[in-house]
Amino acid sequence: MLQDLQDWQIEGAVAPWRKPGRVGLSVVIPCYNEAPVIDALLARLEPVCEAASPGDYEIVLVNDGSTDGTWSLIDAHAARSAHVVGVDLARNHGHQLALTCGLQVCRGDLVLVIDADLQDPPELLPQMMRLVREGYDVVYGQRVAREGETLFKKASAALFYRVLEKMIDIAIPRDAGDFRLMTRPVVDALNAMPERFRFVRGMVSWVGFRQVAIPYHREARFAGETHYPLSKMLALAFDAVTSFSVKPLRMASLCGVLFGMAGLALLGWVLAVWLQHGTVSGWTSMIGVSLIMGSVQLIVLGVFGEYLGRMYIETKGRPMYIVREVRRGGDGR
Ligand code: UDP
Ligand code: MG
Repeated sequence: MLQDLQDWQIEGAVAPWRKPGRVGLSVVIPCYNEAPVIDALLARLEPVCEAASPGDYEIVLVNDGSTDGTWSLIDAHAARSAHVVGVDLARNHGHQLALTCGLQVCRGDLVLVIDADLQDPPELLPQMMRLVREGYDVVYGQRVAREGETLFKKASAALFYRVLEKMIDIAIPRDAGDFRLMTRPVVDALNAMPERFRFVRGMVSWVGFRQVAIPYHREARFAGETHYPLSKMLALAFDAVTSFSVKPLRMASLCGVLFGMAGLALLGWVLAVWLQHGTVSGWTSMIGVSLIMGSVQLIVLGVFGEYLGRMYIETKGRPMYIVREVRRGGDGR
């Protein structure tokens, strides 16, 4: 029964975009304005896939509403090779949803997730597959170096992972992005999770199974520039925290208790002064206290709002993404 339900949910989520049947290996790649790298990406990826799973693989390129020539390149590659599947989203849905779409469309018994910009070396695949054969279900790349990234990017990424660690209750490996190899049961488990605010690497930690890290050097972007400016990093951090923890709400209550105690102490002091001098003390402290209390209340309301807003959007139950077109190599669809 549970199995039936899961199957139904998975099929319900992916139909009609997923073709029936299986392949040995899928590579899922979200692409947003990656025109300068698509050719180089496939040139490097195809031999690796061919060696790892001869003739039995697919490369799923999800075009996340790019505004450059990314889709026409993907389309051309899908027409050229029976192993390339192109999915064109109707607009930019963001990295995590483009990745989700790829995971739902792909048919591999093993699924490799990789960025389009060649920052993660595809050549690591054989090593990752060896670990899967040893019995692991998830092999995730853990960065030991980041080349060609600004100090700010490195510092903000480091801060991101450390704050996240404090805020959420599940262990998300440090310095691991979305570069990972997963087995089909893990991908099916992810596909059965219906939430719209998706922090995929956290969800992978959450599902469990046997997971292992593989250290690697994160290279510089092959071309183009990062699509993760500070604003998107912050949005991702909010999604990550709110989808895995209610700690901020608990912190809001704690904040209330602390300020309540401080307020009581202040009241004691005010009363003491009143008894001694028979006067109330000045205006500055009054303004100070009301400003602090006002801002604390607004912050706490804001935290509530973050959760409430997400609940509102989740309850609408809209699809996570809209597919405009799927182009499969060979069948000309
Ligand atoms: N990406 C996407 N949609 C977006 C932003 C990024 O599909 O709205 C893709 C992008 O094409 C790349 C991956 O997500 O394949 C990671 O993005 P990027 O390399 O810009 O991030 P960084 O490596 O700088 O963290
Ligand atoms: Mg990148």
